[in-house]
Amino acid sequence: MDLQLKGKRALVTGSTSGIGWATARELAAEGASVIVNGRSAARLASAVERIHVEVRGADVDAVQADLSSVEGCLRLIAAAEDVDILVNNLGIFEPKPFEQIGDDDWLRFFEVNVMSGVRLARHHLSRMKERGWGRIVFISSESGICPPADMVHYGMTKSAQLSVSRGLAETCVGTGVTVNAVLPGPTRTEGVGEFFAKLAREAGQTLQEAEHDFFKYARPTSLLQRFIDPAEVAAMVIYVCSPRAAATNGAALRVEGGVVRTLI
Ligand code: NAD
Repeated sequence: MDLQLKGKRALVTGSTSGIGWATARELAAEGASVIVNGRSAARLASAVERIHVEVRGADVDAVQADLSSVEGCLRLIAAAEDVDILVNNLGIFEPKPFEQIGDDDWLRFFEVNVMSGVRLARHHLSRMKERGWGRIVFISSESGICPPADMVHYGMTKSAQLSVSRGLAETCVGTGVTVNAVLPGPTRTEGVGEFFAKLAREAGQTLQEAEHDFFKYARPTSLLQRFIDPAEVAAMVIYVCSPRAAATNGAALRVEGGVVRTLI
């Protein structure tokens, strides 16, 4: 299926690795011109290089900006004033008992996971409406509808993204602009890989044993019973970014391996 993404200009936040990088690569492979974003110049250069290696002739730019602050968001907006597609992918996670999550943690998670996307959408949404076409996608999580006991603050931000996403979609009546959320489940990204390697080391297990036990005991409802590949999430994201997905607006789209046991 031709996703009709050729010539579209896309911005993916937090895209030097993981789901963001996979999304940037898939968008480039579909012929979109892509802007990747991250904090480190070296990691950005590597992200761009890896896309060029995998996608011959890819059109990729990089913008170095730390989106945990207003200034960082403004830097990214100034560097890319108009985009057709905005993927608010940036998100941080950190397991912590509720009693130890201080105010600074709550505010930091809200700032990074929610406000980065809010600030970028506030700039881009009206411009997309003026041009009569646009796509905004928030990368939320299954944790947004099944709050995790071991990182309540993270779950709060992922639920907030769902509310913001649907709320923005409500403002897009008849505009040609869509705003949706994608909810990944446990995905094999760098951060998750490091976290698991540590868990396995502490438990004296191999990575395979730790993964097996995680799905057996911590995610028994997973129908996939393995980590999702970032490319499997990216496939959904690029579809919903495409003109083909015009009738999908205000949706929360699950790519969580069937962990969530609800009908819709
Ligand atoms: P990751 O940690 O692998 O990558 C995050 C990227 O963001 C990296 O490129 C990092 O350098 C960049 N980044 C971090 N802080 C930044 C900042 N302040 N400014 C700019 N860039 C910054 O992330 P991931 O696991 O691919 O997750 C991506 C999104 O998917 C997040 O919103 C996350 O909540 C969501 N998600 C992930 C999983 C999972 O299992 N990996 C599951 C559900 C949802």
